[in-house]
Amino acid sequence: MSASRVIAIDGPSASGKGTLAKRLAAHFGLPHLDTGLLYRAVGWSAERARRPPAEIAAALQASDLDNPELRTDQAGQAGSKVAAIPEVRANLLNFQKKFASQASGAVLDGRDIGTVICPDAAIKLFVTASPEARAERRYRELRERGADTIKPRVLAEMAERDRRDSERAAAPSKAAPDAYLLDTSDMDADAAFAAALAFITRKGFRSSGP
Ligand code: C5P
Repeated sequence: MSASRVIAIDGPSASGKGTLAKRLAAHFGLPHLDTGLLYRAVGWSAERARRPPAEIAAALQASDLDNPELRTDQAGQAGSKVAAIPEVRANLLNFQKKFASQASGAVLDGRDIGTVICPDAAIKLFVTASPEARAERRYRELRERGADTIKPRVLAEMAERDRRDSERAAAPSKAAPDAYLLDTSDMDADAAFAAALAFITRKGFRSSGP
């Protein structure tokens, strides 16, 4: 694996890690994988098909990640449930490791990138924010998409998913010991990008190519 060209970004939902990952990938000209989509895709299919989630995970194709319904909170909850099944995680390992081993390098974001998928990544970021700040962001996002919800419900569902993700036995969501902690509670996307870029530059990570 070209670990020296991998940026691993972990953190809970609505911490800002997805936006940050996209911006860093564009900045450094690297391919980006949102690994949450893999779990969402397995959870989404498992609720519809009569097949075991581990079997769905083993057969997952890149094209399965294009489904717009995977962006919903229901898909997030379904993803979090199947993510606790060790066989599902094992069957998604190769897909992620292969993506990370591209010669160009890569940006991956998720929950266990710095701890399990790319423990040798050159750059590890753990992006977080207070539950209130994250719930406020998610609430606004859902309202913009026309969803009918209230803030206390968003906060409660987020707390339930956080608990499941951090208390599960298989690859619980946690920061790698050598990850840079970025608390975005009081930052907008530009400020989070600037802080991450300053850290990455300090570590000597540069754009490849001419
Ligand atoms: O990040 P996102 O909200 O899309 O992730 C959906 C769910 O997938 C998470 O709640 C988590 O349980 C699971 N996940 C995981 N490991 C990853 C990425 C996501 O367990 N690397």
